[in-house]
Formats: sequence, structure tokens, C-alpha cells
Amino acid sequence: MDIIPNKCDFCGVCVGVCPEDAIELKEAEIKIIEPLCTNCAKCVWCCPIEVLVFRKDKIQELKKEVLNNSI
Ligand code: SF4
Ligand code: SF4
Repeated sequence: MDIIPNKCDFCGVCVGVCPEDAIELKEAEIKIIEPLCTNCAKCVWCCPIEVLVFRKDKIQELKKEVLNNSI
């Protein structure tokens, strides 16, 4: 998961939504704890100002996985 710099207003919505507790909000910093993240995308959908986005390399990885599973 990528975080678009200087966009977050630290509302904390994504922290409450993440089922894996993979988002850390400390004062004026938001951080994804990558080893905990399952790429469920709940944080992407819930952020009101679209701060969180899928990493491009992750999208490629997921596409490959889907293709391999459909063969
Ligand atoms: S993609 Fe899912 S697991 Fe990862 S940080 Fe967002 S809500 Fe949490
Ligand atoms: S929901 Fe969006 S704006 Fe709110 S803390 Fe999370 S990333 Fe920042």
C-alpha cells in the first residue's frame, strides 16, 4: 500500500477499518505495517480523500496470481 505524501488529514478512519491493525497513526504521521497488510483494500475504499493507493508492483503481482488461478 502506498501513501500519497502530504495529503492525509489524520482523520483515523482507515485505522479503525483495517482488520489487521496494519495502519499506525501517530500524531502527524500515518504508516502501513507492510508485513501485517493483506491487501484487502478496505483502507483504500474508506479514505474520504483517496490518500491510500495500491502499490503498482503489488497490482502486477495480484494480476499474475489471478491469472495463474484461472488456468
Ligand atoms: S489493505 Fe487491508 S490490511 Fe492492508 S492496510 Fe489496508 S485495510 Fe489494512
Ligand atoms: S482515512 Fe485517509 S485521511 Fe484519514 S487517516 Fe486514513 S489515510 Fe489519512
